[in-house]
Amino acid sequence: MAMTKTADAHSFLQDLEKWLKEPPSRIEFWGGEPLLYFRKLAILVPELDRRFPDAEFCMVTNGSLLTQEILDFIARYDICITVSHDGPGQHLRGEDPFDNPPRASLLKALWNERKTGERMWFSSVLTPGNSDPAALRRWFVEKLNDESVVTSLEGVVATHDDQSLAGPGVWSPEQYGSLKNAVASSFETGEALLIPALRDKARSFMESLLMGTPSSSMGQKCGMDRSDHVAVDLHSNVLTCHNTGANAQHGLGSALAMDDIRLDTSTHWAYRECCSHCPVLQLCGGSCMYLEGEQFAQSCENEYQFGLGVLDGTLRRALGLKLESIEGDIRRPARRKVISIVAQA
Ligand code: SF4
Ligand code: SF4
Repeated sequence: MAMTKTADAHSFLQDLEKWLKEPPSRIEFWGGEPLLYFRKLAILVPELDRRFPDAEFCMVTNGSLLTQEILDFIARYDICITVSHDGPGQHLRGEDPFDNPPRASLLKALWNERKTGERMWFSSVLTPGNSDPAALRRWFVEKLNDESVVTSLEGVVATHDDQSLAGPGVWSPEQYGSLKNAVASSFETGEALLIPALRDKARSFMESLLMGTPSSSMGQKCGMDRSDHVAVDLHSNVLTCHNTGANAQHGLGSALAMDDIRLDTSTHWAYRECCSHCPVLQLCGGSCMYLEGEQFAQSCENEYQFGLGVLDGTLRRALGLKLESIEGDIRRPARRKVISIVAQA
């Protein structure tokens, strides 16, 4: 990732008017952890607010660097906050701000200030050890002592590197079974309707059936294939998405030469045979568009099993019927075959 200095925030703002032709409706601040760069945010946000008073500001943070100054700043600029936190599975990911009393207190204060009007929620990744969305929501309800807490899902774990392929991103058949059952059951109990990521997936799936929406009208899961979405760093480099950097293969060029930008680092789902034959395409959106090979195959399988759980849950909720099996020309991506060898003593 290209390193930037605090002063780069000023040059970014100067360059912005050379390439941004229309006022944006939404501006998101990402990191790594964006609050590590609070001095840059303190330059960017007031000026962006002055130039684009109608734009919504959003930030995804792990909530570990909050201070009263940052809370005041968030309130002043009405920044919509997503706290990326895996609830009971957070210890597998890193430090838990809820375990640190001063940090927990700031997080709760932020929740109490932002919760009106849905300006804050907690968002988790489903992993083999943390795959029950209803249990995740209950965990946050208890931590915040608030039934109205909004939890969502970043989705099911993707395998973006060899480390996750070696363990945390790989599920056993039993773990997939637990995931599907937990997700489907959450629709029966109604818990899924309190979790925007599940509720919205089910709703758009039902709407697509009702309206007969063709798959050709569907974009990619994260929306970064859309021509009106762009990810840039403070050097005005255009990136495949906010999770990538400009120095490796995901730098697409300079925003100052926007007409030359081509999203040629990724594969749209329409060009993957498995997606075009997938019964949960509408629920998945093609997984991560820049993954290939085994990383894509594993991420696809995780999405597929999650999607089956959502599909089953939607049918249970809407029709009172359980998903038994799916027939048709389903083509799954080839995955590495693993043969376990157990050494005998
Ligand atoms: S589950 Fe796999 S095959 Fe189906 S849409 Fe998602 S990425 Fe494509
Ligand atoms: S391209 Fe992949 S990593 Fe980037 S935002 Fe989309 S899904 Fe996430």
